[in-house]
Amino acid sequence: MTWLNSSLFLTSLLLYCSAAIYDRVDQLRNATTKFDFVIIGGGTAGSVLANRLTESASVSVLVLEAGGSNIGAIPTQIPFFCTLSHPQYDWNYTTTPQEGLSGREIPYTRGFILGGSSSVNGMFYTRGSADDYDRLANVTGDSGWSWENVQIYFRRNEKWTPPADHHNTTGQYDPSIHSLNGINSVSLAGFPQSINKNIIRTAIELGGIFQYNLDMNSGKPLGLGWLQTTIDGGNRSSAATSYLGPEFTRRPNLHVLINTRVTRILQDRSSPGDRLPRLNVVEFAQNSDGPRYQVTASREVLLSAGAIGTPQILLNSGIGNSSYLSSLGISPIVNLPSVGQNFTDHPRLVNNWPVSGNRTFDDIYRDSNLSTFLQNVWSQNGKGPLVDTFVSHLLFARLNASTLGQFGEDPAAGVRSAHYELGFSNGDISVAPTGHFIGITTRVVSPLSRGTVLLKSTNPFAAPLISPNLLSNEFDLLAMREALKTSVKFLAAPVWKEYVLGNPDTVFLQPEMIAAKLGLKGPQDEQLDAYIRNNTGTSAHAVGTAAMTGQNSSFGVVNSDFKVKGVEGLRVVDASIFPFIPSAHTQAPVYVIAERAADMIKSFWRD
Ligand SMILES: Cc1cc2nc3c(=O)[nH]c(=O)nc-3n(C[C@H](O)[C@H](O)[C@H](O)COP(=O)(O)OP(=O)(O)OC[C@H]3O[C@@H](n4cnc5c(N)ncnc54)[C@H](O)[C@@H]3O)c2cc1C
Repeated sequence: MTWLNSSLFLTSLLLYCSAAIYDRVDQLRNATTKFDFVIIGGGTAGSVLANRLTESASVSVLVLEAGGSNIGAIPTQIPFFCTLSHPQYDWNYTTTPQEGLSGREIPYTRGFILGGSSSVNGMFYTRGSADDYDRLANVTGDSGWSWENVQIYFRRNEKWTPPADHHNTTGQYDPSIHSLNGINSVSLAGFPQSINKNIIRTAIELGGIFQYNLDMNSGKPLGLGWLQTTIDGGNRSSAATSYLGPEFTRRPNLHVLINTRVTRILQDRSSPGDRLPRLNVVEFAQNSDGPRYQVTASREVLLSAGAIGTPQILLNSGIGNSSYLSSLGISPIVNLPSVGQNFTDHPRLVNNWPVSGNRTFDDIYRDSNLSTFLQNVWSQNGKGPLVDTFVSHLLFARLNASTLGQFGEDPAAGVRSAHYELGFSNGDISVAPTGHFIGITTRVVSPLSRGTVLLKSTNPFAAPLISPNLLSNEFDLLAMREALKTSVKFLAAPVWKEYVLGNPDTVFLQPEMIAAKLGLKGPQDEQLDAYIRNNTGTSAHAVGTAAMTGQNSSFGVVNSDFKVKGVEGLRVVDASIFPFIPSAHTQAPVYVIAERAADMIKSFWRD
């Protein structure tokens, strides 16, 4: 490690410290040694890299994380509370006004904590379709990205774990495609929901696109099946609890500095012989007015700040569209116009229908005594409804050929890939003050809308301009409309007759939907569209802002080995690199790309 401008650090150094996680610069020991790798962001991908690279005792790694420790962050550990907001663990971003969302600005959650977004996410574990990975292989010209070739990385990541209630899971998943030997726990729900039987019954009654799929993580996700989640015996299994668990952070070659914001990556001018600029010096600070420190990675800097943080850091470092950077007063180092472009996300809409009876989870949100009681059950016995996330089953579906035919292109990666998803909940996660509900969250998983992450200010402590541009493309609106119609068809199955109050297509709570009650064609589609635009939000599945493409592509930020085009010493490894969004919740794909990145980096340096 080379510390520049760090006399404050050197004078206040504590040489002996019991843990490898530090929250102040002056606690970081071994100040005189070099770090081989500096990882920016101890989130989902960054934690994988930190773990895998320090498997070799001779390799030293420093992780710089803006947020705090996950240890003791109880609200993040209780799976059911993932739907509640936790501002202290969130970057608390807001988007720019979104034209496709009736001009609304919407909250945009990102994990501000060790483990990153895996510490605050909904824990859905969905790998995506085989086509998603085969498309990545095609776009990058690297067959290592094919579905077949990434199986090894799914296996390294996944540790299949019994559910909290240890129920018999036969027929709820396919054990042959899961791994018992990975690091991050994946499980099935550990508390039976009263609607489970009806959901499975619907698959039988309706068939077709509702057909039961034994395991949606086989590469063929279409159909209806049980949700798998990153939960370990009723506790969230995040990148921090797994890849940065105590047995790993005890390694003497792994150092994690939390509460530390990386401000820029700088050029190392000590190697003038380099053909390309070498960007392996990291500048950071612990608060906006505090001193700036610098640390040099003797091998590489690995940028894993996520799809918002990564383009912000690249742009502030002079890597981006040169004329845009110059207009902001930033000296360009390399002209990469794709930085911050191609921002892609899955639009998400929470829909609820009132039901008879009260065997839903709605009261947990409303009744503080019940909530406290269940927290005690969770903490003392590891049981009860809080051991699970809010969805029990998913449906992945495609538009039919005639609907799809209205568009010139099929945005899905292939015919095994969904256009939209339905997630079934035994209650309303938007917390209605009264009543009991069945919730169906609809998402477009192969969207065509693209947005941007740009700079509002060159102050690295200022939030960037975040525009996912949700529903800006007509295809996404149409797919969301179809997802809603499919929800109505689902609830019109005979098995729901006594349970769902009223006809499913006439009981939407929102006024626009009531206006659509006479049918879902012609003018009613306009009502439906208004409902969609007024209520859709984000899935927080941000990807694409530092896209991976082939070496000679005119678009893109990194090559298939994660190296930033046109510079030395710097790779980007996080959700930013997906040139197309996988048709899945994005954490499993991020784990997989990070596992492969670690493998590539190790073999490059022959560790
Ligand atoms: C609320 C929410 C719900 C979600 N639900 C699901 C789900 O159920 N299933 C699923 O599969 N996916 C889900 N996702 C998406 C998934 O969690 C992300 O795609 C994935 O975790 C992203 O990993 P990453 O490594 O790219 O970024 P992150 O995990 O976000 O890591 C980035 C890290 O970098 C740090 N950082 C950023 N800037 C700086 C800086 N300047 N200096 C230092 N550190 C910095 C951040 O604090 C963070 O720790 C959800 C995401 C959110 C936010």
